[in-house]
Amino acid sequence: MSEVVTRFAPSPTGHLHIGGARTAIFCWLLARHFGGRFHLRIEDTDLLRSKQEYTDSILASMRWLGLDWDGELIYQTQRAALYNQYVDRLLEDGKAYWCSCTPEEVEAMREEARAKGLKPRYNGCCRERGLGPGEGRCVRLKTPQVGRVVFDDLVKGVIAVDVAELDDIVIRRADGMPTYNMAVVVDDHEMGITHVLRGDDHVSNTPRQIVIYEALGLSVPRFGHVPMILGPDRQKLSKRHGARAVIEYQNDGLLPQALLNYLVRLGWSHGNQELFSMEELVRFFDGTSLNPAAAAFDPAKLEWCNAHYMRELPLSELAALTAPFVVQAGLGEVEPDRLAELCRMFRERANNLKALAESFRPLLVPAEILEYAEKDAAKHFTEAGKNHLHALAQTFTACEPFDHANLEAALNGYVADNGLKFKEVAPPLRTALMGFMGGAHLPEIMAFLGREECLARLRRAAA
Ligand code: GLU
Repeated sequence: MSEVVTRFAPSPTGHLHIGGARTAIFCWLLARHFGGRFHLRIEDTDLLRSKQEYTDSILASMRWLGLDWDGELIYQTQRAALYNQYVDRLLEDGKAYWCSCTPEEVEAMREEARAKGLKPRYNGCCRERGLGPGEGRCVRLKTPQVGRVVFDDLVKGVIAVDVAELDDIVIRRADGMPTYNMAVVVDDHEMGITHVLRGDDHVSNTPRQIVIYEALGLSVPRFGHVPMILGPDRQKLSKRHGARAVIEYQNDGLLPQALLNYLVRLGWSHGNQELFSMEELVRFFDGTSLNPAAAAFDPAKLEWCNAHYMRELPLSELAALTAPFVVQAGLGEVEPDRLAELCRMFRERANNLKALAESFRPLLVPAEILEYAEKDAAKHFTEAGKNHLHALAQTFTACEPFDHANLEAALNGYVADNGLKFKEVAPPLRTALMGFMGGAHLPEIMAFLGREECLARLRRAAA
């Protein structure tokens, strides 16, 4: 195959959402699989809704997901002159014409067609008038009047559209700006795009774009239209379903590899495999096996995927990623080694970095402000429980060094020497240390806290 060149073409009218992110991932993977190029084009021609801050945010999300792009960023607003060169070429070749019909006149033509039970369309009245440029005039393509536009969609298979459906498409608006379809064709051609993968909300634009390619005598790229992502109830995906911008998932402590893996699987498959390294995705993703049916977003599976990647990460890396969330939770800066130790103890218990950071709270606040879960305190800080805590404080004082092995031996010794059962001692101890009946292995918790903090907790609970 000749070089594969793909692009992602977001409109900067909002942050990057998961639907767009998935399209971007597919485009990126296709290019990387074939050793080709992946470009990024900012479709910012909607001047009212496009904002630089959204472009910046989209780029930040792309970088966070690890989707690097080749070459310069392209902004459509900087290319109006280029698009108009192509419009002029079509005019010179007699493939397009000036049209002086006002929007009201065009609407009346549509109404007339509708009244006759026909498809509403422009009636072509300026086609052969030979008008030149002028105030209020747009340029229309002389769309072929008979025939079909046929393309073999990478996702949906062969799609055929009768040209009668297409109308004489406006390619330059009366204000001099090229239209969306015109700009996209020129850009995709100029950028050497071989494969256009995009959301299927654009599938109706594709035949229009193909007639423009053909009028210009340009080769037509391959198209693939991926279905929308649906909510778990198979309705249009919305915030209510947990569908948010990529940046919100990032702020919630998802790992980029988890979001990426989850989104790729939503619409593409490779046997039954669920989890893929980036290297595997690049190896396996060749633009086939894209599912033509819309997939439903499943927040629980995304969490599962994230939990998996949290468990896979080297502890030092997980600690570094969790550090900002610890600070954000108001727990301050924690030394990397101690943070790694916390991650080791708690990572099986959290599905995202934010929850992981929060799970450290009982071990990072000073004894005097540790919060007790009322129910657990009432149940375990009984007279007997307090007596054990008092005695344990004395037992542990003697541990030297104050480490896991010594603490474990001391705790087991206390239980055995007094003819007790572990379950009489562990619950008050756990509640005293953590504030509730949760957390990691007791000797580990105590070793982490250190002598001072540990004894302060036992004394406070015993009092
Ligand atoms: N700018 C369009 C969008 O954000 C993408 C168009 C395309 O990929 O051709 O939906």
